[in-house]
Amino acid sequence: MQSVNPVNGAVLGRFDTWEWPRVDKALGLAASAAPEWAQTPLPDRAERLRRAAQILRQRRDQYAGIITQEMGKLSSEARAEIDKCAAVCDFYAGEGPRFLADAMLASDASRSLIAWQPLGTVLAVMPWNFPFWQVFRFAAPALMAGNTALLKHASNVPRCALAIEEVFREAGFPEGAFQTLMIPASAVEAVIRDRRVHAVTLTGSEPAGRAVAAAAGAVLKKAVLELGGSDPFVVLEDADLELTVQQAVASRFMNAGQSCIAAKRFVVLEGVAEAFLSRFREAVRALRPGDPSHEATTLAPMARTDLRDELHRQVQQSIAAGAVPLEGCEPVPGKGAWYRPSVLDQVGPGMPAYDEELFGPVAAILRARDEEDALRIANDTRFGLGGSVWTRDVARGEALARRLACGCAFVNGLVKSDPRLPFGGIKDSGYGRELSALGMREFLNAKTVWVR
Ligand code: NDP
Repeated sequence: MQSVNPVNGAVLGRFDTWEWPRVDKALGLAASAAPEWAQTPLPDRAERLRRAAQILRQRRDQYAGIITQEMGKLSSEARAEIDKCAAVCDFYAGEGPRFLADAMLASDASRSLIAWQPLGTVLAVMPWNFPFWQVFRFAAPALMAGNTALLKHASNVPRCALAIEEVFREAGFPEGAFQTLMIPASAVEAVIRDRRVHAVTLTGSEPAGRAVAAAAGAVLKKAVLELGGSDPFVVLEDADLELTVQQAVASRFMNAGQSCIAAKRFVVLEGVAEAFLSRFREAVRALRPGDPSHEATTLAPMARTDLRDELHRQVQQSIAAGAVPLEGCEPVPGKGAWYRPSVLDQVGPGMPAYDEELFGPVAAILRARDEEDALRIANDTRFGLGGSVWTRDVARGEALARRLACGCAFVNGLVKSDPRLPFGGIKDSGYGRELSALGMREFLNAKTVWVR
């Protein structure tokens, strides 16, 4: 595994991948830690999570620096990511006992209830785009629930993977409670099949999701999948354009556009299209690409050159099929994974910008005749992760948001994850939920207890 700085292609480190005997040993450690960890009282589990939060806050700049070096995220965004990881640890330390309390139910028994019990060991296959957050969003609830965790992180963020293991170790989690496996994607299936692993969660691309779901299905193990998205951002004619444009730029260009819940398709009503576009283009032109460790930079490089090249192929094919490039739509020549902030107008069916996920700094503009047409276009996608509606009439916005075919619909706010709210998708964006009580319960046995 290689750690490569996407700013200039410099190799920061090389790490050996593990052969099976080393994986086997880690699986054994997880299995032997699991029963004791499941019996550890909740206040003790919570205390360790709070300690993990403290460590994250103390080493915020150090860990943020590793993120920026390995995948190119802006320093300010990387620091915010570390803060969010600390917050999710505190959230589950505080709310976990309530989520895990017996749920009493009335029945023909004198006493009947749901007892929430951990499944055992959960494998997390994670991506590089939020290399700390994606892991903590899974690990905080899973560990608080009494499961042990194994991390197979993306091959381009090995230093992040090892740093996360260090946080849990130093927070006092018992040996085997959280381990990073330095394995390639090709070794994941064998880990899923192993009887010491009870469930799997994956955040990443659709092909990876299909492979992991098939492997889990073959051995009847629980899986949660958080895959790609092509979220619509629906602008109605009565939208507050100042707020809408500011949030549109943040949603599309944050993390260099490499977020599953970034706004990707801007579905704009004809009546407001010109006004929206002129302000939006101006804001896009004002983005300052540059070194992500400089505070003045507002657009980061992409994480890898192969991802940048794939994005450019999608853009070129869209233009060949009739889309109109308004801004950017070109890689930046030279070393590093740079792509200009881009706006692609007149996007329609049959183009990659319409049918596929654009995982980079390219906004696709789709014009709609009226609200019903906007809803039709918004839902005309294989994906169903998030979506947002922008209007001064919040009742109208909520009514439309309820009709979006997705897992998370926002009105006058960009789609974001929040530990208090469930997060996840439908259709080809995957299944299951993360965060909130629902996320914690994905890896719990909802055991019915009936007493005469
Ligand atoms: P991948 O989906 O390939 O990587 C995500 C994780 O899955 C990594 O840990 C990867 O390991 C692992 N993985 C990949 N293939 C398999 C497999 N067959 N079996 C088991 N595990 C597997 O993402 P990429 O980095 O290649 O990015 C490609 C595209 O994926 C992006 O352009 C974007 O569209 C989408 N994506 C979506 C994300 C999201 O948040 N929804 C996050 C990242 C990517 P390894 O790194 O070793 O290959």
